[in-house]
Amino acid sequence: MLFDLRPKTSRKELFNREEELKTLDKVVDRGDPLILVLGIRRVGKTSLLKSFLEKWHGIYIDMRGVLRESDLYRRISDGLANNIGKMKSIVKGIRGIKILGVEVEIKWKGKDSISLIGLLEELNRRSERVVIVFDEAQLIQPPISMKIKSAIAYAYDSLENITVILSGSEIGLLRKFVGIENPESPLYGRYAFELLVERFPKDLSLKFLQQGFKELNISVSREAIEEAVELFDGIVGWLVFYGKSYADGIKDINKIFNMATQLAINELGKLSRREKLVLKAIAEGAKSWSSIRKYVEEREGVTIPKSSLSRIIRKLEKLSIIENYRFLDPIYREAAKRIRN
Ligand code: ADP
Ligand code: MG
Repeated sequence: MLFDLRPKTSRKELFNREEELKTLDKVVDRGDPLILVLGIRRVGKTSLLKSFLEKWHGIYIDMRGVLRESDLYRRISDGLANNIGKMKSIVKGIRGIKILGVEVEIKWKGKDSISLIGLLEELNRRSERVVIVFDEAQLIQPPISMKIKSAIAYAYDSLENITVILSGSEIGLLRKFVGIENPESPLYGRYAFELLVERFPKDLSLKFLQQGFKELNISVSREAIEEAVELFDGIVGWLVFYGKSYADGIKDINKIFNMATQLAINELGKLSRREKLVLKAIAEGAKSWSSIRKYVEEREGVTIPKSSLSRIIRKLEKLSIIENYRFLDPIYREAAKRIRN
């Protein structure tokens, strides 16, 4: 069902990502060790990756909320369990790993345990390509970030059957996490193939909504669908949000738009007051560094050092919220307008 809020998990459920799948299949097939899958939030990265894995031996690891090693191994075990049909034969007999029906137990400390590197080595021995996906990898924090990066660097250099895919919504932060240009990073100087997941163009967004409503036998006027495409752009997660809300009986598009904006406001909640103010300035039309500075200084009644404003703008760019003083997601722009400072 297209209007399902959860990520898609199979290629036949996926709407129009044939090119992306073809590219990933090709790059993994030729044995690239490291791939980055980048794109703003809700554009469909997780759906693409999970569906992609349908054809490959692989483990999908969600890094959201992973703070310590125990979290990491729990997620690896979840990833194995979710794909146990295909992975059973590959992980069977690996020390420290027990398959209990549809559950997978990983012993990562003490006697007969296995580390992340040990696991990658064992998987590499099976002489089949195995794909390890770390989703939202930019969220990986010390102390485990060094461990994971070292393991990836080791796999890159020595484990020819392993492909690592790192994916993330905060594109600048993900690139920084990988640190290909940073001499301090274990991955310094390596090459990564990059796939940018883009929003749908207007005609496909329209088709997406039409097809989604058709699946549910709901008839919606073309005007209503066109209006939704204007408001939500081609960001598939928002299109699903619209379609699902409509199907659930909320026919007023302004109401759905407000609900979406409220979600975005909550997501912006992690930013500082001044970062939000900078976003507000841009949302209200400031298109240059100096006009943002003027806006913020007038609101705050205090002079702002150049370097501090530049730092804020760079951070907002790294978070993939803005680019060249423009919002990447129209709902975030609306959210920034409505934020109370
Ligand atoms: P991301 O990981 O980039 O934040 P998700 O994969 O979680 O995005 O997708 C957001 C929403 O859009 C989910 O409801 C998902 O089911 C839907 N979705 C994403 N890509 C597609 C697609 N190609 N076809 C159909 N639905 C999709
Ligand atoms: Mg995702």
